[in-house]
Amino acid sequence: MSKCVCTGCQQTFTCLSAFDMHRVGSCGEPIYAESRTRKSRRVIGHTPSQRRCLTEQEMLAKGMGRNAQGWWMTRPSAVHWAEEQAIACS
Ligand SMILES: [Zn+2]
Repeated sequence: MSKCVCTGCQQTFTCLSAFDMHRVGSCGEPIYAESRTRKSRRVIGHTPSQRRCLTEQEMLAKGMGRNAQGWWMTRPSAVHWAEEQAIACS
């Protein structure tokens, strides 16, 4: 089974989509300056990167859950839970 470990928060994720869900914020947005006539605009800079990991509480609020090994997944699923527990017990 593949898994993702985040180097930022040290959490383990069951798949890439779960990993992606816990990363939020902008990587930096361009800042535009409009001309006085508002007919043209140009990029004058970028906002600082706000990229960060969600906290446990924020992940739970998003509907994410953890399996028997404590790995985060996109949403708790009865099928997944049964599969994970079977693996953990074998
Ligand atoms: Zn993280």
